[in-house]
Parts: sequence; structure tokens; C-alpha cells
Amino acid sequence: MFEDRPLDIVSSQGLEGRGGGMKCPCGHGPMELRKQIKTTTFRGVELHYEAESYVCPVCGLEVATVEQATAIQQAIIDAINGFEKSKR
Ligand SMILES: [Zn+2]
Repeated sequence: MFEDRPLDIVSSQGLEGRGGGMKCPCGHGPMELRKQIKTTTFRGVELHYEAESYVCPVCGLEVATVEQATAIQQAIIDAINGFEKSKR
């Protein structure tokens, strides 16, 4: 509905017990946990929200665990709610 860019969703289950951390599926090694301010467009208005995900420092690939994806979705919904409220 309001997804600007598809994010690879990975199961957080597979992460544990493998030495920890997330590894780039392209073989670049460990990915960095990053918090970023993202922008999405809703009804022609730019909304900003905070998203935490894993980013490969080599190729820039971004993946989110199910938990992170849920939090991101909630952040977008909050941003939209805030926008809707500001109109009233
Ligand atoms: Zn990579």
C-alpha cells in the first residue's frame, strides 16, 4: 500500500547460533545494523520515519528481520497517523 522500496525480509530465527550477526547473502561478510531516517510518500506528502535494518557496507544491500520489518511498518503507520492528525 505505502511501500516505497521493497526490503528483503529474513527470518530472525536463522541468525542465531551461526556466530551471530547478519551476513550478506552475496558473500560480503557481516552486515551492519543501521538506524536510518527514511522517506516515504503518502498522498504526495513526504513522510519520514526511522527504520532499523541490516546494511551490507560493500554492496549496500538492505535486509530486515521480521521484527524489524514489523517495527518499520509501525513507524510508517505512525508517520501517516501523525500526518492525518496534523490536517485536522
Ligand atoms: Zn553485500
